[in-house]
Amino acid sequence: MPKGNISVQTENIFPIIKKFLYSDHEIFLRELVSNAVDATTKLKALSRRGQTTGELGDTTIEILIDEEAKTLTIRDKGIGMTSEEVEKYLNQVAFSSAEEFLEKYKDDASIIGHFGLGFYSAFMVADKVEVRTLSYQEGAGGATWVCEGNPEYFLEENDKSSRGTDVILYINEENKEFLEEHRIQQLLDKYCKFLPVPIKFGTKTETVTEGEGDDAEEKQIEVDNIINNPDPAWRKQPADLTDEDYKSFYNELYPFSTPPLFWIHLNIDYPFNLTGILYFPKLGNNFELQKNKIQLYSNQVYVTDDVKEIVPEFLTLLHGVIDSPDIPLNVSRSYLQSDSNVRKITGYITKKVADKLAELYKKDEENFKAKWDDLGVFIKYGMISDEKFYERALPFSLLKSIDGSFTPVEAYKDKVKEQQTDKYDKIVVLYTNAPEQHDSFISAAKKKGYDVVLFDNVIDNHFMQHLEQKFGDVTFVRVDSDTVDNLVQKDEETESVLSEEQQNKVKELFEKVADKPGNTVVMKALSPEDQPVTITRPEFMRRMKEMQTLQGMQFGDFPDSVNVVVNSNHPLIASKLAGQEEAEGTQEVADYLYKLALLNQNMLTGAELTAFINKSMNFLK
Ligand code: ADP
Repeated sequence: MPKGNISVQTENIFPIIKKFLYSDHEIFLRELVSNAVDATTKLKALSRRGQTTGELGDTTIEILIDEEAKTLTIRDKGIGMTSEEVEKYLNQVAFSSAEEFLEKYKDDASIIGHFGLGFYSAFMVADKVEVRTLSYQEGAGGATWVCEGNPEYFLEENDKSSRGTDVILYINEENKEFLEEHRIQQLLDKYCKFLPVPIKFGTKTETVTEGEGDDAEEKQIEVDNIINNPDPAWRKQPADLTDEDYKSFYNELYPFSTPPLFWIHLNIDYPFNLTGILYFPKLGNNFELQKNKIQLYSNQVYVTDDVKEIVPEFLTLLHGVIDSPDIPLNVSRSYLQSDSNVRKITGYITKKVADKLAELYKKDEENFKAKWDDLGVFIKYGMISDEKFYERALPFSLLKSIDGSFTPVEAYKDKVKEQQTDKYDKIVVLYTNAPEQHDSFISAAKKKGYDVVLFDNVIDNHFMQHLEQKFGDVTFVRVDSDTVDNLVQKDEETESVLSEEQQNKVKELFEKVADKPGNTVVMKALSPEDQPVTITRPEFMRRMKEMQTLQGMQFGDFPDSVNVVVNSNHPLIASKLAGQEEAEGTQEVADYLYKLALLNQNMLTGAELTAFINKSMNFLK
């Protein structure tokens, strides 16, 4: 066999390839199949231009395992190579870029394949690689190239009669997993699912029905196992796709998942090239699970599902595919973030998403509202984290009231301004995150003519803080908070039926039963229909705690202090507790009313709760 030397400087390249790329060695298959696809697409392009002779015939790529010979073969029917081209492309070009690659990016193995090192990644799993190829060019003879993982290679003529290239990998002992059918199938699913040329991997059995009516017979037949969809939805024109097509593509990407809410088809060719479909999934409260599912492709070749640098953080909640040959993949991650092209792409995607949401809101407000529970999470997340998005989304960021109505934030301010302004002239937005638990507070608020907003997603805490900071004249107050009584105080001018002296006496009773550091007791002349005793909690303290819990911090020795609001106009207070005589059991009644109020706030637990229940049963006896 005629011999040659690949290059003197590259003596160490094989050990480096093996060691350096070890963590990611499965990508060899993507690299070799991509080469086969390239060779096939090039041939098709030549044929379209009339630069080939005869019919192209079938151009399916094949992956073959030979367990006995311990080989894995990637076979294409593409343009092939002449011996000169093998020399040039496999020895010189590939190696010079390999050297360049090693030179520049010693520390970042994730970027192999975008540097022309693709072919040589075969040596991560094979000790010997054989290439048997025949060029499409008329009169070309076949060529065989063999290399055993050292700088020496062999090149000779062969009598290959069919156009295209076989790359035969002699899989080594450590990598014998790549001779297992299920492992290869798994890799093909991961990396090659949407490559633009059909790829065959063995056969599979299919059940077909033959004949009709009573003669119908089910039969098992062997068919080619084509592992990819060469014509995925995102490469098509939106006008050619139905809703069903979009949904079934979603299912192809994420089998067995809940159908998406809707989608955005991205299609741009200036100032960069990008196609894709982004889906809005149904989210729950646990949206961490839904994150980082977008797949990045470069001309239908799977690159990664780590798109943090390309998609703004809040949009990583979306699902789907982005395909762009213009995203520079051959650079390190930190560089990617500062790349102006990538920043443009990020900006574009954000804008597209905002536009789509605006359009949905405008076109079909009812539907938009119906989807708010899921949509709201994206929108709020986006508004918090991206200033531009905040501005775009403000007109359709809605507040959902407990009565089921939706109002855009700005309109909401106008809606409640009249009734709900506090003494600092701030508009008070009352909210609940647990309507069941806050039922009595909600009905009290409603009675006063206040509106209560439902804020029950983990994102809401951050969202309200953001709005407070943005607007300056709005404050969010939970419906069971102490600030609510300040509001109440402002509009209520009711006089107390109790004298000053009586009020003090009642107050003392409650101070005794609620005797804990930080607790306060106030007497209020509310309506006789309001609760006799209400527990409220300082808004500020409670929110601090919630934020800390969200961030996984301990809240140390924060006292869980409460305000006890005693309604001096409630008949029970007046008749049972404010009598002239020191009546029997007044202290006990105060204690009972206090415990009831705690219970209403879900704050009566443990031994105290047991004691309270026992006492209640004794009362019944
Ligand atoms: P890249 O594909 O990035 O150019 P590779 O190292 O993977 O780098 O391949 C080097 C060159 O070898 C390719 O550019 C191509 O010209 C040639 N080549 C590789 N595989 C094939 C193939 N299956 N058929 C035809 N040519 C190929």
